[in-house]
Amino acid sequence: MLKNFGIDIWSNNNFIIEEGKLKLNYKSKPSLISLVKSIRDKNYKGPLLFRFPHLIEKQINRLYDTYNSAIKEYSYKGSFNAVFPLKVNQYPTFIKPLIKAGEKHNYGLEAGSKAELFIAMTYNKNAPITVNGFKDKEMIHLGFIAKKMGHNITLIIEGLNELETIIEVAKETKLESPNIGIRVRLFNSGSGAWAKSGGIDSKFGLSSTEILEAYDQLEKNNLCEYLTMIHFHIGSSMNSIKPLKNALKESGHIYAELKNLGATNLSAINIGGGLAVEYSQFNRTINYSLQEFASDVIFTLKNIAKQKGVEEPNIFTESGRFISASSAVLITPVLELFSAEYEAAHLRLKKKNPPLIEELNELFKDMKKRNALEYMHDSIDHLDSLLKLFDLGYIDLEDRSNAEILTNLIIKKAISFLEVDDYEELKRIDNKIQEKYLLNFSIFQSLPDFWGIKQEFPIMPITHLDKKPTRSASIWDITCDSDGEIEFNPNKPLYLHDVDLDKEEYFIGFFQVGAYQDVLGMKHNLFSHPTEVNVIFNKNGEVELEDVVESQKIIDILDDIDYDTNEIKSILNEKLDKNIYSILENYLYDNSYLKTTWS
Ligand SMILES: *Cc1c(COP(=O)(O)O)cnc(C)c1O
Repeated sequence: MLKNFGIDIWSNNNFIIEEGKLKLNYKSKPSLISLVKSIRDKNYKGPLLFRFPHLIEKQINRLYDTYNSAIKEYSYKGSFNAVFPLKVNQYPTFIKPLIKAGEKHNYGLEAGSKAELFIAMTYNKNAPITVNGFKDKEMIHLGFIAKKMGHNITLIIEGLNELETIIEVAKETKLESPNIGIRVRLFNSGSGAWAKSGGIDSKFGLSSTEILEAYDQLEKNNLCEYLTMIHFHIGSSMNSIKPLKNALKESGHIYAELKNLGATNLSAINIGGGLAVEYSQFNRTINYSLQEFASDVIFTLKNIAKQKGVEEPNIFTESGRFISASSAVLITPVLELFSAEYEAAHLRLKKKNPPLIEELNELFKDMKKRNALEYMHDSIDHLDSLLKLFDLGYIDLEDRSNAEILTNLIIKKAISFLEVDDYEELKRIDNKIQEKYLLNFSIFQSLPDFWGIKQEFPIMPITHLDKKPTRSASIWDITCDSDGEIEFNPNKPLYLHDVDLDKEEYFIGFFQVGAYQDVLGMKHNLFSHPTEVNVIFNKNGEVELEDVVESQKIIDILDDIDYDTNEIKSILNEKLDKNIYSILENYLYDNSYLKTTWS
């Protein structure tokens, strides 16, 4: 992963590197830096979140095309259907393009809460809606109303009590029942990250005893005709296909058994989500392709149907991460490199310096390619000793500053000697010589899964890609929290370029951030969402920037956490004269990210 930052591993050909720039591999192939420039020309600064609806469409097409060709290959008689699980991204700037892109496939929506159900009821056209998660009477009533509106909606019950409520609501409202699905509590949950959503001790689903009980209840209340779907979801980001196969067999047999009990309208198996996305820049972490996955699903279900003599079920999927992750990219300006202060111009060498300082100076002057590494190691040792001497009171602050500057200059010089062909050598020492890159963003807001579960995301600069990156990098955000850091990891080293920010801009991109990050993002330190924009291509293949949502104003952030903003204004106003107050009010109506001339 040196020059290309692993784009051949994670980017699925969505991006290409040309002329040192990262470009979208689509239509007019705009570079990301040109997109950044055009939004900055409209005077938006700070971090930017670009959404690419064409990448949502690409994933939807991939999903349907792969399943439909597997269906053809196996002469499978059931149909393929899919819904987007709203919990993965509910934002209108994402959902509206998604619905448009999915229309030709009749791509539907999945809701897991009342608020999500309202979105589905409002914006879904004729496509299917599935409803998961725990439901009270009100939520079930909403399902009946959606059905009344003409939606093709399936309420998937997580427990017997939900079925009882459906029966109750049907009796009380006299409305026609929506379709009913049963989530099965799988015995074969596999292991690892997904074991929590599946498995016998899972939070969700009915055991086999409960399924039989549910069927009795449906019969007794004349609702059998509404039972249409068996559902399972073994959890997010499956990087192996094995647990899926087990779950398929189990639920396939449950489907067949219920069919043979007389569930005539039961016609679908919903296999939930869980298709993984490649987040690694270093090596592939997923051991299956979508094609393999789809073939396994079809093959397994076909066999079970044959064995039990029932019709082949329609297939539903609810993959969210797979559809949305690649569609958003966060781009943040670098504000500062922490070694930038260590410049020769800042040296305050004296007539007579402590011997170790003199020695550092010699090392710096005499360094050649063949001794670069040795001199660098010596300088790091010398710096250690000099820092100790400072603590003991033997050298003064100027000496200490000189020592730090000289050591950094030596390290930089050594790197420039080594970068050409001693890259391996460089890698061995980079733990000691990291550069800290301060970026204008909040990890808590924009990469919450990095903070919460140490989820990796591909990271790379969007320019300078014709040069070798030579600095082992750790990334700092602008929150006042020490967790707001992506530390250098020698096993998965990130190298960035040595740039002079007084002379050039440097932007870092974070990729695959379109799933879960938007809504999980939190306002730690009161940094709100970045400025967002949808990148659309018109008929001529040219870029148009649409739906700009500017980063939230400070006053609105304060309002969100229930401050009385009029009170804030009047208290400040009282204590300041008019002129200063009007400046202050401008600041209040701006966002909280940092501003430099270009960042
Ligand atoms: C979260 C969830 C999904 C989506 O999972 P992904 O890993 O994003 O594909 C699908 N179905 C249900 C029931 C879920 O809870």
